[in-house]
Amino acid sequence: MPIATINPATGETLKTFDALAAEVVEAKLARATAAFATYRLTSFADRAGWLRAAADILDAESDQVALLMTTEMGKTVAAAKAEVGKCAAGCRYYAEHAEALLADEPADAAAVKAVEAYTRYQPLGPVLAVMPWNYPLWQAMRFAAPALMAGNVGLLKHASNVPQTAMYMEELFRRAGFPADVFQTLLIGSDLVEGILRDPRVVAATLTGSTPAGRSVAGICGEMLKPTVLELGGSDPFVVMPSADLDRAADVAVTARTQNNGQSCIAAKRFLVHQSVATEWTRIFVEKMQALVVGDPTEDETDVGPVANESGVSDLEDLVADAVAKGARVLCGGTRLDQPGCYYPPTVLCDVTDEMEIWSEEAFGPVAVVRTFADLDEAVRLANDTQFGLGSNFWTDDPVEQDRFVRDAQAGMVFLNGMTASYPELPFGGVKNSGYGRELSGHGIREFCNTKTAWRGGATGRVRSGRGPPGA
Ligand code: NAP
Repeated sequence: MPIATINPATGETLKTFDALAAEVVEAKLARATAAFATYRLTSFADRAGWLRAAADILDAESDQVALLMTTEMGKTVAAAKAEVGKCAAGCRYYAEHAEALLADEPADAAAVKAVEAYTRYQPLGPVLAVMPWNYPLWQAMRFAAPALMAGNVGLLKHASNVPQTAMYMEELFRRAGFPADVFQTLLIGSDLVEGILRDPRVVAATLTGSTPAGRSVAGICGEMLKPTVLELGGSDPFVVMPSADLDRAADVAVTARTQNNGQSCIAAKRFLVHQSVATEWTRIFVEKMQALVVGDPTEDETDVGPVANESGVSDLEDLVADAVAKGARVLCGGTRLDQPGCYYPPTVLCDVTDEMEIWSEEAFGPVAVVRTFADLDEAVRLANDTQFGLGSNFWTDDPVEQDRFVRDAQAGMVFLNGMTASYPELPFGGVKNSGYGRELSGHGIREFCNTKTAWRGGATGRVRSGRGPPGA
């Protein structure tokens, strides 16, 4: 895949980049290692100051960064601005809370025959982050903010179609005042990832992207005994029970399916509706999907822009063609728009069955499938009938049904009467083929830490827990 900015709204190639030569990658790894030696000793207060400065820069440059993302991958400018704001908020969250989240945890000293015992969280070293294009700033930031606050050093291999956003990130951290080489972008293709993962200087990795890419990174890191966090694909169910507010559920369903032009891992992709309300709910849902404005992502009134590239369009075309050939009905959309650019309209399919690829694969674009069920048991079975286990949405006013779904959903996240979303305060991640490990919250920041046990016998030379030396 070329490393290039190709505007999906027009198909125009705006800028191409040569992949870094092997010796440049080598020099960057050496610099990352050297940076870690001193960066790990910096204080939380210093790191927080730099991260807050990064947040301020993001706020100040929101318009231009948003336009850059829109140009590289097609999200609407409104969505891109919201993403920039979310990144600034994420930086401020970790600037504010990292020290407390990583504070020493005292243990029951008497129980372990010590004078004092505690757990300390310490950084691991240079971490490679392999990131996708769909939230080009947020995906990378939700790795970087906690990882840097914990004292790690970041190396970003971003998706090949968002090179300018990737370079902006490196610049952002440099301008915010972080020491040199604490965060570096590597403009490389995925073919160079294996060599970097095998390099002893890189101590851990995270990948957000497709399940096959995650499997590859996990396989290499497994062999090298390096920790990984994997945030992979999803096909979130969106279940509507009879007691749900049908209009609100349909409104949220439209956003949940079409946000980011339908290209979100946590987008609701499979809509499961109780048979007693299916006709009415589907009518409202289709009406709202048809009302969306598809077009130029830089225009304020646009709801849905292009998908990110040509292969994104042809993947959707193939999934819809397969479903229709096997008996699905198209309630709206269903055909690529006849205009330049990668435009695929909001689409709803019904009469979907297990045999259709769209049931078992992830549709990465604004295509929804609707299936009906007879009772809660069948709803839970269908919701879990997927290789993925990222988010899940369940709509009901009945607290017993809510509890049952929270208990039985095979997913990393359950949202009741709402849609899956990420917040710095909540752990984010999945089970099954959606990956493992967690981002965000205290769980996320500890993923790239050495959870170190400290045990002290005797009575002298005491370092009190909770007050480590700077940078601990
Ligand atoms: P992708 O093809 O897996 O690419 C993601 C990143 O991995 C890119 O940087 C890509 O580099 C790199 N890559 C691809 N194959 C690789 C390999 N074999 N070894 C190492 N690196 C490799 O995914 P995508 O199609 O761009 O992104 C969409 C996918 O990401 C969807 O499945 C979506 O659900 C998932 N996603 C998950 C989350 C989550 O949090 N769970 C969030 C967002 C997206 P190149 O660009 O150079 O190929």
